[in-house]
Amino acid sequence: MLGRRLAGRKGIRVGLLGSLVWLVVAILLADRSPRPAVQAVAVVCAGLSGTTLPDLDLLLPLGHRSGLTHSLLPLALALFATRWRPVMAGLAIGIGLHLAADTFPNAMRGFATVKLPGVGSLGATGSYAWLGMQALAATLAGAVLLAAALPIRLALVTAAALAMVGIAYLFATDGGWPALAVYGAFGWLAIRRRTVRVAS
Ligand SMILES: [Zn+2]
Repeated sequence: MLGRRLAGRKGIRVGLLGSLVWLVVAILLADRSPRPAVQAVAVVCAGLSGTTLPDLDLLLPLGHRSGLTHSLLPLALALFATRWRPVMAGLAIGIGLHLAADTFPNAMRGFATVKLPGVGSLGATGSYAWLGMQALAATLAGAVLLAAALPIRLALVTAAALAMVGIAYLFATDGGWPALAVYGAFGWLAIRRRTVRVAS
């Protein structure tokens, strides 16, 4: 997802600042009102934020595709206050989307690989494993947190809204299309399993 992004550094900054704005909005909403509908909006705002949040490493002295931001670590934010749990749910799903797209670079080298402080680049295989596993973990964590944060019907509506965010994001970003295919395959399996379970 970098080629297009490097085309305009200014564009990157605006996108990253947007990510922070969505995050602040999500936290304020979750913090101010315990009403499920407000919490649901907070989840979606956090989801929007999560799709670009990992690339904040571009503004920090971390080196791009830092393993600190390209991981579940930003979710630790929600440990500050239990009221922020819905934010954690949305962030997890958004970060999952970002990492899923980052798992499919044009070539896993240079900028595309994951870097850890004190370790340096994880190399191609290590980066695929890191991004793939963190994407999977973030998505699963997001689904569990979402189901726990909201009444089931509202959770399903919120999941549908996040799916729209995900499709729009993956459609437009480098590496998004193969990631979209993976999400589609998992979604299809999940629905099939449920149908089989209901039928038997
Ligand atoms: Zn990234």
